[in-house]
Amino acid sequence: MKQLLSFLTIIMAALLLKYVPASASDTPDAAPSPKEIYTVSDMLSIADDPSGSYILMADLDMKGVAWPAITFTGSFDGNQHLILNLDTAAVSEETRVTYDGNRKIYDTHFCGLFAILEHATVENVRLLNIDLNHTFTGDCFLGGIAGYASESNIRNCEITGRIRLDITGHMIGVGGILGYGNGTVQNCRTELTLVNIDLDKSYRDEQFLGGVCAAGYPDIEGCEINLSGFISDHGYVHSGGLVGMYIIYPKRFERDGYIKNNTVDGFITFFEDNTNRRAYCEARCGEIMDWKFKDSGNVYHFKRDERYTYTVNLLPHSCETPVYDEVVLPPTCKDYGYTYYTCKACGYSYKDAYVLPCDHQPGEEPTSMVLATTDAEGYALYECIYCQTELRIVLPQLIPSPTPVPTIAPTPTTAPTAVPTSAARDSSGNNRQWMLLSIGLLLLFVILLVRVILRQRRMHKQAADLRNR
Ligand SMILES: [Zn+2]
Ligand SMILES: [Zn+2]
Repeated sequence: MKQLLSFLTIIMAALLLKYVPASASDTPDAAPSPKEIYTVSDMLSIADDPSGSYILMADLDMKGVAWPAITFTGSFDGNQHLILNLDTAAVSEETRVTYDGNRKIYDTHFCGLFAILEHATVENVRLLNIDLNHTFTGDCFLGGIAGYASESNIRNCEITGRIRLDITGHMIGVGGILGYGNGTVQNCRTELTLVNIDLDKSYRDEQFLGGVCAAGYPDIEGCEINLSGFISDHGYVHSGGLVGMYIIYPKRFERDGYIKNNTVDGFITFFEDNTNRRAYCEARCGEIMDWKFKDSGNVYHFKRDERYTYTVNLLPHSCETPVYDEVVLPPTCKDYGYTYYTCKACGYSYKDAYVLPCDHQPGEEPTSMVLATTDAEGYALYECIYCQTELRIVLPQLIPSPTPVPTIAPTPTTAPTAVPTSAARDSSGNNRQWMLLSIGLLLLFVILLVRVILRQRRMHKQAADLRNR
Protein backbone atom coordinates (compact mmCIF):
# COMPACT_ATOMS: atom_id res chain seq x y z
CA MET A 1 0.00 0.00 0.00
CA LYS A 2 2.78 2.39 1.04
CA GLN A 3 4.72 1.61 -2.16
CA LEU A 4 1.63 2.20 -4.28
CA LEU A 5 1.12 5.62 -2.63
CA SER A 6 4.68 6.78 -3.23
CA PHE A 7 4.47 5.56 -6.83
CA LEU A 8 1.27 7.60 -7.35
CA THR A 9 2.92 10.66 -5.74
CA ILE A 10 5.83 10.45 -8.17
CA ILE A 11 3.45 10.16 -11.15
CA MET A 12 1.42 13.19 -9.95
CA ALA A 13 4.55 15.29 -9.40
CA ALA A 14 5.82 14.42 -12.89
CA LEU A 15 2.48 15.42 -14.44
CA LEU A 16 2.35 18.71 -12.51
CA LEU A 17 5.89 19.64 -13.50
CA LYS A 18 5.03 18.97 -17.11
CA TYR A 19 2.12 21.43 -17.10
CA VAL A 20 3.51 24.22 -14.88
CA PRO A 21 4.77 26.97 -17.25
CA ALA A 22 8.45 27.82 -17.01
CA SER A 23 8.98 30.87 -14.77
CA ALA A 24 10.57 34.06 -16.11
CA SER A 25 13.86 33.26 -14.37
CA ASP A 26 14.09 30.01 -16.36
CA THR A 27 14.11 31.96 -19.62
CA PRO A 28 17.43 33.76 -19.92
CA ASP A 29 16.33 36.53 -22.31
CA ALA A 30 13.11 37.56 -20.47
CA ALA A 31 13.18 41.03 -18.84
CA PRO A 32 13.60 40.85 -15.07
CA SER A 33 10.27 41.23 -13.27
CA PRO A 34 9.79 44.64 -11.65
CA LYS A 35 10.57 45.10 -7.98
CA GLU A 36 7.34 45.14 -5.98
CA ILE A 37 6.62 48.13 -3.73
CA TYR A 38 4.38 47.54 -0.72
CA THR A 39 5.41 50.24 1.76
CA VAL A 40 6.63 53.84 1.98
CA SER A 41 10.04 52.45 2.91
CA ASP A 42 10.06 50.29 -0.28
CA MET A 43 9.11 53.43 -2.18
CA LEU A 44 12.01 55.40 -0.63
CA SER A 45 14.42 52.64 -1.71
CA ILE A 46 13.87 53.68 -5.36
CA ALA A 47 16.47 56.39 -4.65
CA ASP A 48 19.06 53.63 -4.09
CA ASP A 49 18.46 52.10 -7.53
CA PRO A 50 16.97 54.81 -9.75
CA SER A 51 17.49 52.81 -12.95
CA GLY A 52 15.37 49.90 -11.71
CA SER A 53 11.95 48.70 -12.74
CA TYR A 54 9.19 49.03 -10.14
CA ILE A 55 5.54 48.18 -9.63
CA LEU A 56 3.37 49.52 -6.81
CA MET A 57 1.47 46.76 -4.97
CA ALA A 58 -0.36 48.76 -2.27
CA ASP A 59 -1.87 52.19 -1.60
CA LEU A 60 0.58 54.56 0.13
CA ASP A 61 0.10 57.64 2.30
CA MET A 62 3.07 59.97 1.77
CA LYS A 63 1.95 62.63 4.28
CA GLY A 64 5.06 64.11 5.90
CA VAL A 65 7.39 61.63 4.19
CA ALA A 66 10.66 63.39 3.29
CA TRP A 67 10.57 62.41 -0.37
CA PRO A 68 13.98 62.87 -2.03
CA ALA A 69 14.80 64.42 -5.41
CA ILE A 70 15.37 61.38 -7.65
CA THR A 71 16.96 61.36 -11.08
CA PHE A 72 15.04 58.38 -12.42
CA THR A 73 16.02 56.39 -15.51
CA GLY A 74 13.97 53.23 -14.94
CA SER A 75 10.30 52.35 -15.16
CA PHE A 76 7.63 52.89 -12.53
CA ASP A 77 4.20 51.28 -12.76
CA GLY A 78 1.81 52.76 -10.20
CA ASN A 79 -0.53 49.83 -10.94
CA GLN A 80 -3.52 52.15 -10.27
CA HIS A 81 -2.75 52.16 -6.55
CA LEU A 82 -3.08 55.41 -4.61
CA ILE A 83 -0.16 57.65 -3.68
CA LEU A 84 -1.76 60.11 -1.28
CA ASN A 85 -0.68 63.41 0.25
CA LEU A 86 2.82 63.80 -1.24
CA ASP A 87 3.73 67.08 0.45
CA THR A 88 7.48 67.30 1.05
CA ALA A 89 9.29 66.43 -2.19
CA ALA A 90 12.79 67.91 -2.27
CA VAL A 91 14.12 70.23 -4.98
CA SER A 92 17.02 68.61 -6.85
CA GLU A 93 20.58 69.71 -6.21
CA GLU A 94 21.34 68.39 -9.69
CA THR A 95 20.58 70.78 -12.54
CA ARG A 96 19.72 70.37 -16.20
CA VAL A 97 19.89 72.99 -18.94
CA THR A 98 16.67 74.79 -19.84
CA TYR A 99 16.13 77.28 -22.70
CA ASP A 100 14.07 80.44 -22.72
CA GLY A 101 12.42 81.91 -25.82
CA ASN A 102 15.71 83.49 -26.89
CA ARG A 103 17.40 80.11 -26.42
CA LYS A 104 19.39 81.52 -23.58
CA ILE A 105 20.35 78.67 -21.24
CA TYR A 106 19.88 78.27 -17.49
CA ASP A 107 21.15 75.63 -15.06
CA THR A 108 17.85 74.76 -13.51
CA HIS A 109 16.67 72.76 -10.47
CA PHE A 110 13.59 70.54 -10.41
CA CYS A 111 11.01 68.98 -8.16
CA GLY A 112 8.15 66.50 -8.53
CA LEU A 113 7.28 62.89 -7.73
CA PHE A 114 10.44 62.38 -9.77
CA ALA A 115 12.65 65.47 -9.89
CA ILE A 116 14.28 64.36 -13.16
CA LEU A 117 13.26 61.68 -15.69
CA GLU A 118 15.70 60.53 -18.37
CA HIS A 119 14.70 57.74 -20.78
CA ALA A 120 12.21 56.71 -18.12
CA THR A 121 8.62 55.46 -18.12
CA VAL A 122 6.03 56.40 -15.49
CA GLU A 123 2.56 54.91 -15.84
CA ASN A 124 -0.68 54.11 -13.99
CA VAL A 125 0.16 56.48 -11.14
CA ARG A 126 -2.68 57.89 -9.03
CA LEU A 127 -0.98 60.81 -7.29
CA LEU A 128 -3.85 62.28 -5.30
CA ASN A 129 -3.77 65.38 -3.10
CA ILE A 130 -0.21 66.28 -3.99
CA ASP A 131 0.62 69.43 -2.01
CA LEU A 132 4.00 70.78 -3.07
CA ASN A 133 4.77 74.22 -1.74
CA HIS A 134 8.28 75.60 -2.19
CA THR A 135 9.95 78.91 -1.61
CA PHE A 136 13.15 78.86 -3.65
CA THR A 137 16.03 81.06 -4.72
CA GLY A 138 17.46 80.08 -8.12
CA ASP A 139 16.07 78.74 -11.39
CA CYS A 140 13.50 76.05 -10.79
CA PHE A 141 10.57 74.13 -12.31
CA LEU A 142 7.98 72.08 -10.44
CA GLY A 143 5.76 69.37 -11.96
CA GLY A 144 3.39 66.77 -10.52
CA ILE A 145 4.96 63.65 -12.02
CA ALA A 146 8.31 65.18 -12.96
CA GLY A 147 10.12 68.51 -12.67
CA TYR A 148 12.13 67.67 -15.80
CA ALA A 149 11.81 64.97 -18.46
CA SER A 150 14.07 64.01 -21.31
CA GLU A 151 12.83 61.40 -23.82
CA SER A 152 10.54 59.90 -21.21
CA ASN A 153 6.99 58.57 -21.31
CA ILE A 154 4.26 59.48 -18.84
CA ARG A 155 0.94 57.71 -19.40
CA ASN A 156 -2.33 56.78 -17.69
CA CYS A 157 -1.61 58.94 -14.65
CA GLU A 158 -4.04 60.83 -12.45
CA ILE A 159 -2.93 63.84 -10.39
CA THR A 160 -4.99 66.01 -8.08
CA GLY A 161 -4.00 68.67 -5.55
CA ARG A 162 -1.94 71.83 -5.38
CA ILE A 163 1.52 72.86 -6.57
CA ARG A 164 2.93 76.24 -5.56
CA LEU A 165 6.29 77.86 -6.20
CA ASP A 166 7.26 81.19 -4.61
CA ILE A 167 10.56 82.06 -6.19
CA THR A 168 13.40 84.48 -6.70
CA GLY A 169 14.89 83.38 -10.01
CA HIS A 170 15.31 84.08 -13.73
CA MET A 171 13.86 80.89 -15.27
CA ILE A 172 10.85 79.71 -13.30
CA GLY A 173 7.77 77.60 -13.80
CA VAL A 174 5.07 75.17 -12.72
CA GLY A 175 3.52 72.38 -14.80
CA GLY A 176 0.63 70.10 -13.87
CA ILE A 177 2.30 66.88 -15.02
CA LEU A 178 5.73 68.00 -16.18
CA GLY A 179 7.75 71.11 -15.36
CA TYR A 180 10.12 71.27 -18.33
CA GLY A 181 11.07 68.82 -21.04
CA ASN A 182 10.08 66.43 -23.79
CA GLY A 183 8.82 62.91 -24.41
CA THR A 184 5.17 61.84 -24.35
CA VAL A 185 2.30 62.54 -21.99
CA GLN A 186 -0.67 60.30 -22.78
CA ASN A 187 -4.09 59.62 -21.27
CA CYS A 188 -3.46 61.53 -18.07
CA ARG A 189 -6.07 63.27 -15.95
CA THR A 190 -5.42 66.25 -13.69
CA GLU A 191 -7.40 68.34 -11.25
CA LEU A 192 -4.81 70.82 -10.04
CA THR A 193 -4.35 74.27 -8.62
CA LEU A 194 -1.03 75.69 -9.83
CA VAL A 195 0.41 78.81 -8.24
CA ASN A 196 3.59 80.64 -9.27
CA ILE A 197 4.63 83.79 -7.42
CA ASP A 198 7.68 85.77 -8.49
CA LEU A 199 9.17 87.27 -5.33
CA ASP A 200 11.75 89.42 -7.12
CA LYS A 201 10.12 92.56 -8.53
CA SER A 202 13.38 94.04 -9.83
CA TYR A 203 14.31 91.32 -12.39
CA ARG A 204 12.32 90.56 -15.57
CA ASP A 205 12.35 86.77 -15.28
CA GLU A 206 11.03 84.18 -17.73
CA GLN A 207 7.94 82.63 -16.19
CA PHE A 208 6.08 79.49 -17.45
CA LEU A 209 2.92 77.63 -16.43
CA GLY A 210 0.98 74.86 -18.21
CA GLY A 211 -1.79 72.43 -17.39
CA VAL A 212 0.41 69.61 -18.75
CA CYS A 213 3.87 71.18 -19.10
CA ALA A 214 5.32 74.60 -18.29
CA ALA A 215 7.83 74.65 -21.18
CA GLY A 216 9.29 72.22 -23.72
CA TYR A 217 8.02 70.04 -26.55
CA PRO A 218 6.20 66.99 -25.14
CA ASP A 219 3.80 65.08 -27.40
CA ILE A 220 0.44 65.26 -25.63
CA GLU A 221 -2.48 62.96 -26.34
CA GLY A 222 -5.79 62.04 -24.73
CA CYS A 223 -5.33 64.11 -21.58
CA GLU A 224 -8.14 65.57 -19.50
CA ILE A 225 -6.88 68.73 -17.80
CA ASN A 226 -8.76 70.56 -15.05
CA LEU A 227 -6.74 73.63 -14.20
CA SER A 228 -6.90 76.54 -11.80
CA GLY A 229 -3.78 78.63 -12.49
CA PHE A 230 -2.50 81.68 -10.61
CA ILE A 231 0.55 83.67 -11.73
CA SER A 232 1.94 86.80 -10.14
CA ASP A 233 4.95 87.81 -12.21
CA HIS A 234 7.18 90.82 -12.72
CA GLY A 235 8.77 89.55 -15.93
CA TYR A 236 7.42 87.62 -18.95
CA VAL A 237 4.48 85.25 -18.51
CA HIS A 238 4.12 82.21 -20.83
CA SER A 239 1.09 80.17 -19.82
CA GLY A 240 -1.39 77.77 -21.41
CA GLY A 241 -4.06 75.21 -20.69
CA LEU A 242 -1.70 72.54 -22.06
CA VAL A 243 1.79 74.09 -22.44
CA GLY A 244 3.17 77.45 -21.27
CA MET A 245 5.71 77.73 -24.09
CA TYR A 246 6.12 75.16 -26.86
CA ILE A 247 9.80 75.24 -27.78
CA ILE A 248 12.03 72.70 -29.50
CA TYR A 249 15.59 72.68 -28.24
CA PRO A 250 18.52 72.73 -28.61
CA LYS A 251 18.89 75.24 -31.42
CA ARG A 252 18.61 73.75 -34.94
CA PHE A 253 17.16 70.47 -33.62
CA GLU A 254 14.25 69.43 -35.87
CA ARG A 255 11.34 67.29 -34.83
CA ASP A 256 7.66 66.75 -35.67
CA GLY A 257 5.35 66.26 -32.69
CA TYR A 258 1.64 66.16 -31.91
CA ILE A 259 -0.94 67.60 -29.56
CA LYS A 260 -4.22 65.73 -30.04
CA ASN A 261 -7.51 64.69 -28.45
CA ASN A 262 -7.03 66.57 -25.19
CA THR A 263 -9.60 68.52 -23.20
CA VAL A 264 -8.86 71.56 -21.07
CA ASP A 265 -11.29 72.88 -18.49
CA GLY A 266 -10.29 75.81 -16.37
CA PHE A 267 -8.65 79.18 -16.18
CA ILE A 268 -5.41 81.01 -15.59
CA THR A 269 -5.62 84.18 -13.53
CA PHE A 270 -2.42 86.19 -13.89
CA PHE A 271 -0.68 89.50 -13.90
CA GLU A 272 2.43 90.47 -15.80
CA ASP A 273 3.99 93.48 -14.13
CA ASN A 274 6.19 94.64 -17.00
CA THR A 275 6.21 97.83 -19.11
CA ASN A 276 7.10 95.68 -22.14
CA ARG A 277 4.01 93.51 -21.52
CA ARG A 278 3.31 90.50 -23.80
CA ALA A 279 1.12 88.46 -21.47
CA TYR A 280 1.14 85.13 -23.30
CA CYS A 281 -1.81 83.11 -22.02
CA GLU A 282 -3.80 80.78 -24.30
CA ALA A 283 -6.02 77.70 -24.00
CA ARG A 284 -3.48 75.49 -25.85
CA CYS A 285 0.03 76.96 -25.63
CA GLY A 286 0.82 80.46 -24.35
CA GLU A 287 3.61 80.97 -26.87
CA ILE A 288 4.62 78.70 -29.74
CA MET A 289 8.28 79.07 -30.72
CA ASP A 290 8.27 76.17 -33.17
CA TRP A 291 5.13 75.26 -35.12
CA LYS A 292 6.29 71.68 -35.55
CA PHE A 293 3.38 69.70 -34.12
CA LYS A 294 0.18 68.25 -35.54
CA ASP A 295 -2.85 69.65 -33.77
CA SER A 296 -6.20 67.84 -33.81
CA GLY A 297 -9.23 66.96 -31.75
CA ASN A 298 -8.51 69.22 -28.78
CA VAL A 299 -11.40 70.77 -26.84
CA TYR A 300 -10.97 73.88 -24.71
CA HIS A 301 -13.19 75.43 -22.07
CA PHE A 302 -10.62 77.94 -20.94
CA LYS A 303 -10.71 81.39 -19.42
CA ARG A 304 -7.79 83.79 -19.78
CA ASP A 305 -8.10 86.08 -16.80
CA GLU A 306 -5.54 88.89 -16.79
CA ARG A 307 -5.37 91.32 -13.84
CA TYR A 308 -3.72 94.71 -13.76
CA THR A 309 -3.12 95.26 -10.07
CA TYR A 310 0.43 94.27 -9.25
CA THR A 311 0.55 94.84 -5.52
CA VAL A 312 -1.35 91.78 -4.27
CA ASN A 313 -0.24 88.26 -5.25
CA LEU A 314 -2.91 86.14 -6.91
CA LEU A 315 -4.06 83.12 -4.90
CA PRO A 316 -6.96 80.66 -5.09
CA HIS A 317 -8.70 82.36 -2.18
CA SER A 318 -9.69 85.95 -2.82
CA CYS A 319 -10.07 86.94 0.81
CA GLU A 320 -7.15 88.06 2.92
CA THR A 321 -7.49 85.54 5.76
CA PRO A 322 -9.45 82.39 4.90
CA VAL A 323 -11.53 80.77 7.61
CA TYR A 324 -12.52 77.25 6.67
CA ASP A 325 -15.53 75.07 7.34
CA GLU A 326 -14.52 71.40 7.36
CA VAL A 327 -16.58 68.46 6.22
CA VAL A 328 -14.96 65.07 6.78
CA LEU A 329 -15.84 62.32 4.30
CA PRO A 330 -14.62 59.06 5.86
CA PRO A 331 -13.09 56.35 3.68
CA THR A 332 -14.87 53.17 2.69
CA CYS A 333 -13.40 49.79 1.81
CA LYS A 334 -13.65 50.83 -1.84
CA ASP A 335 -12.44 54.42 -1.82
CA TYR A 336 -10.29 56.96 -0.02
CA GLY A 337 -11.72 59.58 2.35
CA TYR A 338 -10.88 63.27 2.59
CA THR A 339 -11.79 66.54 4.27
CA TYR A 340 -13.58 69.20 2.26
CA TYR A 341 -12.60 72.75 3.21
CA THR A 342 -14.70 75.76 2.26
CA CYS A 343 -13.71 79.34 3.09
CA LYS A 344 -16.53 81.09 4.95
CA ALA A 345 -15.36 84.48 3.67
CA CYS A 346 -14.81 83.95 -0.09
CA GLY A 347 -16.20 80.51 -0.87
CA TYR A 348 -12.91 79.00 -2.09
CA SER A 349 -12.93 75.27 -1.48
CA TYR A 350 -10.45 72.42 -1.71
CA LYS A 351 -9.99 68.84 -0.57
CA ASP A 352 -7.19 67.81 1.77
CA ALA A 353 -6.18 65.25 4.40
CA TYR A 354 -6.86 62.21 2.23
CA VAL A 355 -7.24 58.91 4.07
CA LEU A 356 -6.49 55.47 2.62
CA PRO A 357 -9.44 53.10 2.11
CA CYS A 358 -10.40 51.15 5.24
CA ASP A 359 -10.97 47.39 5.69
CA HIS A 360 -14.38 45.84 5.00
CA GLN A 361 -16.89 46.88 7.67
CA PRO A 362 -19.26 44.10 8.83
CA GLY A 363 -22.89 45.05 9.48
CA GLU A 364 -24.23 44.91 13.06
CA GLU A 365 -26.20 41.67 12.67
CA PRO A 366 -24.88 38.47 11.11
CA THR A 367 -26.83 37.26 8.07
CA SER A 368 -26.44 33.67 9.29
CA MET A 369 -24.60 31.77 11.98
CA VAL A 370 -23.59 28.18 12.80
CA LEU A 371 -22.54 27.75 16.44
CA ALA A 372 -19.34 25.95 17.30
CA THR A 373 -19.49 22.54 19.05
CA THR A 374 -16.87 20.37 20.71
CA ASP A 375 -16.63 18.50 17.40
CA ALA A 376 -16.42 21.37 14.91
CA GLU A 377 -15.85 25.12 14.65
CA GLY A 378 -18.78 27.35 13.77
CA TYR A 379 -19.00 30.56 11.76
CA ALA A 380 -20.98 33.76 11.44
CA LEU A 381 -21.61 35.45 8.08
CA TYR A 382 -21.79 39.25 7.85
CA GLU A 383 -22.25 41.58 4.90
CA CYS A 384 -19.81 44.50 4.39
CA ILE A 385 -21.85 47.70 4.78
CA TYR A 386 -19.95 49.35 1.86
CA CYS A 387 -19.53 46.67 -0.78
CA GLN A 388 -21.87 43.82 0.34
CA THR A 389 -18.98 41.34 0.31
CA GLU A 390 -19.82 38.31 2.51
CA LEU A 391 -17.49 38.28 5.51
CA ARG A 392 -17.03 34.94 7.35
CA ILE A 393 -16.01 35.09 10.98
CA VAL A 394 -14.88 31.71 12.36
CA LEU A 395 -16.17 30.68 15.80
CA PRO A 396 -13.50 28.38 17.26
CA GLN A 397 -14.26 24.75 18.17
CA LEU A 398 -15.24 24.29 21.84
CA ILE A 399 -12.82 22.62 24.27
CA PRO A 400 -14.50 20.38 26.94
CA SER A 401 -13.94 21.90 30.39
CA PRO A 402 -11.90 19.63 32.77
CA THR A 403 -13.79 20.75 35.92
CA PRO A 404 -17.52 20.05 36.57
CA VAL A 405 -19.83 22.94 36.17
CA PRO A 406 -22.61 23.87 38.68
CA THR A 407 -25.71 21.74 38.18
CA ILE A 408 -28.10 24.65 37.64
CA ALA A 409 -27.31 26.78 34.62
CA PRO A 410 -28.39 30.44 34.92
CA THR A 411 -31.29 31.33 32.68
CA PRO A 412 -30.41 34.26 30.46
CA THR A 413 -32.54 37.29 31.32
CA THR A 414 -32.14 38.91 27.89
CA ALA A 415 -32.12 37.48 24.38
CA PRO A 416 -28.64 36.33 23.35
CA THR A 417 -26.66 38.92 21.37
CA ALA A 418 -25.87 38.38 17.71
CA VAL A 419 -22.24 37.55 18.35
CA PRO A 420 -21.84 35.82 21.71
CA THR A 421 -18.40 36.13 23.27
CA SER A 422 -16.33 32.98 23.10
CA ALA A 423 -16.41 32.63 26.93
CA ALA A 424 -20.20 32.73 26.96
CA ARG A 425 -20.35 30.20 24.15
CA ASP A 426 -17.91 27.90 26.02
CA SER A 427 -19.79 27.89 29.32
CA SER A 428 -23.26 27.37 27.77
CA GLY A 429 -21.85 24.49 25.69
CA ASN A 430 -20.26 22.90 28.76
CA ASN A 431 -23.47 23.20 30.82
CA ARG A 432 -25.40 21.32 28.19
CA GLN A 433 -22.70 18.72 27.97
CA TRP A 434 -22.64 18.05 31.70
CA MET A 435 -26.43 17.86 31.87
CA LEU A 436 -26.48 15.25 29.09
CA LEU A 437 -23.76 13.27 30.86
CA SER A 438 -25.72 13.25 34.17
CA ILE A 439 -28.92 12.12 32.44
CA GLY A 440 -26.95 9.39 30.64
CA LEU A 441 -25.42 8.11 33.88
CA LEU A 442 -28.82 8.16 35.60
CA LEU A 443 -30.39 6.16 32.74
CA LEU A 444 -27.54 3.64 32.85
CA PHE A 445 -27.98 3.24 36.62
CA VAL A 446 -31.75 2.71 36.24
CA ILE A 447 -31.25 0.13 33.48
CA LEU A 448 -28.71 -1.78 35.58
CA LEU A 449 -31.02 -1.65 38.62
CA VAL A 450 -33.96 -2.95 36.58
CA ARG A 451 -31.83 -5.74 35.16
CA VAL A 452 -30.61 -6.78 38.64
CA ILE A 453 -34.20 -6.80 39.98
CA LEU A 454 -35.47 -8.80 36.98
CA ARG A 455 -32.61 -11.29 37.30
CA GLN A 456 -33.28 -11.79 41.01
CA ARG A 457 -36.98 -12.29 40.31
CA ARG A 458 -36.17 -14.87 37.63
CA MET A 459 -33.85 -16.73 39.99
CA HIS A 460 -36.54 -16.72 42.71
CA LYS A 461 -39.04 -18.07 40.19
CA GLN A 462 -36.65 -20.86 39.06
CA ALA A 463 -35.98 -21.83 42.71
CA ALA A 464 -39.76 -21.93 43.42
CA ASP A 465 -40.32 -24.07 40.28
CA LEU A 466 -37.64 -26.55 41.40
CA ARG A 467 -39.16 -26.76 44.88
CA ASN A 468 -42.63 -27.37 43.35
CA ARG A 469 -41.45 -30.33 41.25
ZN1 LIG B 1 -11.49 83.07 1.61
ZN1 LIG C 1 -16.27 46.11 1.71
